[in-house]
Amino acid sequence: MKKIISVFLAAVTVFALFSCGDRKINADTAAADSGETENETGFKPYKLGIVGGDYIFADDPCGGYPVKYNVHNGQMSYLCPDPFCSHELDECEFSGVGYTSIGNTVYFAREDEATGKYSLYAFDADTSELKIIYSSNAYLSVYRAYDYRLFMRYSSGFGKNAYGYYFWYDTKTGDIEEIDEGRVPGYHIIDDITDGRIIWRKLNSDEYVSTDLQFGDLKEHDFGYRYGNHYEFVQTDGIYSLYVTFKGDDEKTLLLEDVGPCLFYENKIIYFKVLPLEEQPVVHICEDGTKDTDEFGGNVYVMNPDGSDNHLLLHTDKMIMGTTTDRMHPQVCGDYFALIVARYEGDGICDDTLLIANINTGEYVITTPLY
Ligand SMILES: [Zn+2]
Repeated sequence: MKKIISVFLAAVTVFALFSCGDRKINADTAAADSGETENETGFKPYKLGIVGGDYIFADDPCGGYPVKYNVHNGQMSYLCPDPFCSHELDECEFSGVGYTSIGNTVYFAREDEATGKYSLYAFDADTSELKIIYSSNAYLSVYRAYDYRLFMRYSSGFGKNAYGYYFWYDTKTGDIEEIDEGRVPGYHIIDDITDGRIIWRKLNSDEYVSTDLQFGDLKEHDFGYRYGNHYEFVQTDGIYSLYVTFKGDDEKTLLLEDVGPCLFYENKIIYFKVLPLEEQPVVHICEDGTKDTDEFGGNVYVMNPDGSDNHLLLHTDKMIMGTTTDRMHPQVCGDYFALIVARYEGDGICDDTLLIANINTGEYVITTPLY
């Protein structure tokens, strides 16, 4: 089933993406947060928990099936390698499971019907080799990969008999590090793990806190903090500007004017601008023969967190819809990041296509939808 949205809705979506002035816009990125600087002048180089590979993993926006996008040729394919599988929930072992990835390996946990045990699976997206790497008698959940470790939970029983704990599973050694359950912030769910912090969201609320990887150092979390600085989007007359307050400074500095959502990745800030209407290179011919200029081209720029080395990374004729929003499966991979672009389907626009670009060279591919 295709998800087709109207041009009008697409325009609203673009506006909405441009109009997020609060911290949620920052939450839309796959970024590192609240990094302490090592010194007053330099930004701390940090490593995200994302290891380079050949694929960006995501849930297909149309069917919700786990898919992989090849960063080199843009090909989108089902994660499940079985050509005869419908990939529907009840049939496909890859659908409906919480999964995360390290390099080309996808990790998920589910019950093994043969043994009744819960198992942690490692699936090589390149070779389609599926392995059980850990088993337990109790329910296992995989939340997120961070560097080469998986953040997981073990739980058994219900009500008064409920018992469980969070743990780290080291994919290189198989070692397990249990975490003291008593230190889990109450009523919070895992939102993200980034830059040495676990970010928790309070259930049914917009409140975020963060802890270190062993649930210590609990503090309020502000998504505006990145690279040791504080970033803020400010709206004036419908135009958004990005301001930064550098660590140790009191005053805001204007970094970017007339800008959409920014992606904070690999110690860079990536942003895009839609070309003015009169410079639009592409005219779409609608089914009734009328012409439309709604396939907006755009430029993607990259700069350092302090605004230096601000340069054009690439130009595309595609309409850029925004940054990807799924932090549990951030659509980044090593040197590659993805932006959502639109494609035409009849007179409607589908938002199931990605532009995957190399952050260093600007080379990019437009992904090919499955159907
Ligand atoms: Zn399947």
